[in-house]
Amino acid sequence: MVVIISGAGIGGLTVALTCHQLGIPVKVFEAVPKITPLGVGINLQPHAVRELFELGLADQLDAIGLRTREVAYFSKHGLPIWAEDRGKWAGYNWPQYSVHRGALQMLLLDAVMARLGADCVTTASKVTGFEQTASGVLVTINGEQQVQGDVLIAADGIHSTIRAGFYPDEGAPVWGGAVLWRGTTRAKAFLSGASMAMAGHKDLKFVTYPISQPDENGLSLINWIADVKFDNSATWNREDYNRQGKLADFLPKFGDWNFDWLDIPDLIRKADAIYEFPMIDRNPLERWSFGNITLLGDAAHAMYPIGSNGATQAIIDARVLGKYFKSHGINAAALKAYDAERRPICNAVVLANRGNGPDQVLQVVEQRCKGRFDRVEDILSPNEMAKMAADYKKVAGFDVETLNNAPSILGKLDDKNT
Ligand SMILES: Cc1cc2nc3c(=O)[nH]c(=O)nc-3n(C[C@H](O)[C@H](O)[C@H](O)COP(=O)(O)OP(=O)(O)OC[C@H]3O[C@@H](n4cnc5c(N)ncnc54)[C@H](O)[C@@H]3O)c2cc1C
Repeated sequence: MVVIISGAGIGGLTVALTCHQLGIPVKVFEAVPKITPLGVGINLQPHAVRELFELGLADQLDAIGLRTREVAYFSKHGLPIWAEDRGKWAGYNWPQYSVHRGALQMLLLDAVMARLGADCVTTASKVTGFEQTASGVLVTINGEQQVQGDVLIAADGIHSTIRAGFYPDEGAPVWGGAVLWRGTTRAKAFLSGASMAMAGHKDLKFVTYPISQPDENGLSLINWIADVKFDNSATWNREDYNRQGKLADFLPKFGDWNFDWLDIPDLIRKADAIYEFPMIDRNPLERWSFGNITLLGDAAHAMYPIGSNGATQAIIDARVLGKYFKSHGINAAALKAYDAERRPICNAVVLANRGNGPDQVLQVVEQRCKGRFDRVEDILSPNEMAKMAADYKKVAGFDVETLNNAPSILGKLDDKNT
C-alpha cells in the first residue's frame, strides 16, 4: 500500500504528514533538484493552523511566523475604513499566522523527513505521466522511471501536469489584468506590530504585514504586495515566482502613499528583493478525482491571493483527504468522497476572490467617495462592513463559531509519533 504524491509544496507535504499520522506509506516526487525556501509572505487562517497544531507543529510555527493580530483596511489616502481582530484576539481557539512561504515549506519538509525518513521525498523527479491500473496507478517520473502506487495525489501547483492530463484543452492560467509586485523589507512594524494592512482599491492596492518577530534593532521582515490593474488589452510576462521586478514599473503609482501609519514608498524602496507576478487563477472544475487519481491544492483550485486562502485551503484539502482514507481506505472511493466535500467549497472561494473577496470593502468606499471622507460611517455602515467580512469567512470555512465548534477532522497526532 502506498500513496504517491506529486509535488513537495505546502499541499503535498501536508498530505505526507497526514498519511504518516494514519500509518500510510507515502512517496513524494518533487520536480526541482533542491527544495529551497522560495516566495515571500503568506497568511495561514485559523482553520489551517488548527490542522498544523494537530500535526504537532505549534512550536515550530511560532518559531518561524508571527501571530496576526488584526486586519485593517484603508482608503488610497490612508484613511481608516475597517479593522477587525484576528486569530485568538478574535475569539478563535487557534491563531492566524503571517509567515514566509518558503520557511513554512521547509518546516513541513523537515517534519516529513524526520517522521517518514529522508528518502520519502525524491527531488529532481518530475511526474510526467500516469495511468490507471487494475490495482491502482502507474506513475512515470522524468519520462522514464515507473512507480506503482494505490493512488496518485496531484499536488503539483498551478501548472499541474496531471491536471493538464485530465483537461488537455485548458491551457494557461487565467490572467485577471493585474500585476503583483511582491517584496520583503526590514523595517519597523506598523500599527499593532502584527497587523495586516490593505490600502487602496481593486485597481491600485497595497497589502503589507510583518512576517517575523522584531530583531535586536526592533526591525521585522515586512512583506508587501503592490497590486496594479492594467487595461484588458495589456499583456504581461508569463508567471514565474522567481521573476525579478523593477521599481520603475510600479513605484511611481504609490509615490504619494506616505501615510501617518506607514511610509509606503519608503518601504518599497528599501526592499531586499522584488518579484513580479501576474494575478492569475484557474477556472473552477467540475471534477478533481478520476479513479485512483485526484487533484489537491493549487492544482485543483489556484486562486487569486486575496483573503489569504491559497495555502490554507491546500492544508484543509490534505486533512479531508486523510479523513476519507481513514473511513474508505486508500482507494477511488476515498478520492471521490474528498472531491464531493472539498470541490464546492474551494470553487466558491475561487469565485469569491474574483469578486475581491473581503477586500470588496475597499472597492465600495472608492466607488462611493474616491477614498475621501470625514466619517467612514457616512459612506458605508459598520453593519455593511461587518457583513462583507463575515460572508467571506463563511464561504472560506473560517467563521469563528462554526470553526470553534467543529469536531477535529483527524484528531491530534499522538505525541509519541512526533
Ligand atoms: C516557488 C514558489 C513560490 C511561491 N511564492 C508564493 C508567495 O510568495 N506568496 C503566495 O501567496 N504564494 C506563493 N506560492 C504559491 C503557494 O505556495 C500556493 O498557492 C499554496 O501554498 C498551495 O500550495 P500547493 O502545494 O498546492 O502548490 P505549490 O506551493 O505551488 O507547490 C507545488 C509543488 O509541486 C512541484 N511540481 C510542479 N510540477 C511538478 C511535477 N510535474 N512533478 C513533481 N513536482 C512538481 C513544484 O516544484 C512545487 O514544489 C509559491 C509557489 C511556489 C512553487
